[in-house]
Amino acid sequence: MSQAMMSSKSITTASGNKPHVLVVEDEQDLQDLLRYNLTREGMDVICADSGERALELARQKLPDLILLDLMLPGVDGLNVCRTLKNEAETSGIPVVMLTAKGEEADIVVGLELGADDYIPKPFSPRVLLARIKAVLRRAGEINPPSADGEDCINVGDVVIDRGRHEVRIEDDPIDLTATEFRLLNLLATRPGRVFTRQQIIEAIHGGLAAVTDRSVDVQMVALRRKLGDHGSNLETVRGVGYRFKE
Ligand code: CA
Repeated sequence: MSQAMMSSKSITTASGNKPHVLVVEDEQDLQDLLRYNLTREGMDVICADSGERALELARQKLPDLILLDLMLPGVDGLNVCRTLKNEAETSGIPVVMLTAKGEEADIVVGLELGADDYIPKPFSPRVLLARIKAVLRRAGEINPPSADGEDCINVGDVVIDRGRHEVRIEDDPIDLTATEFRLLNLLATRPGRVFTRQQIIEAIHGGLAAVTDRSVDVQMVALRRKLGDHGSNLETVRGVGYRFKE
């Protein structure tokens, strides 16, 4: 494959350095493929083929991102993720899970443990790189905008005005409940990121009210309807949760 066929320019971290990526994958062929593709995008790649080795390298090298296969010999990917997210030193490192068919339940657990994203196998190198770059980019955006009235998210013709707690489509305010507003705001803040129903419940109700998965689905239907043509930006990810289209 020629250089031109691979995606665009290389990416750097917020500090302007080459991103350091830890690849955790026990299948040698796949590990080689990942190393090859990430290295040619200008990333520094280190690899681990077990959960134990992954934990060791993560603590030692503090990479900018960890690409983590879930099915590993010994300590599995979910336990690696849980351990890293529980340690102060490593808890801020973005984790992208590599998942196999039928692992939807594990994906949900992983996202709730704090993983940032997941990539289902088999994947195309192009998709893989795009997802990794998106996660690195988000990780570099350390300071979210503050609530100062100027604080708006624009998504095409839709404006989410956090200062005024208002959503406008082509300048016309639309009538949302407080919960619908919080739901839309949560998802639109991180386009492409999948939120599980449990994460949505905790974020919009502070985990206080007794809200069920089903009520999240009901709110989502209502919100999509109110957004009209723009409702399709709210995507259902089967077996996992919801996301705002990237
Ligand atoms: Ca594996």
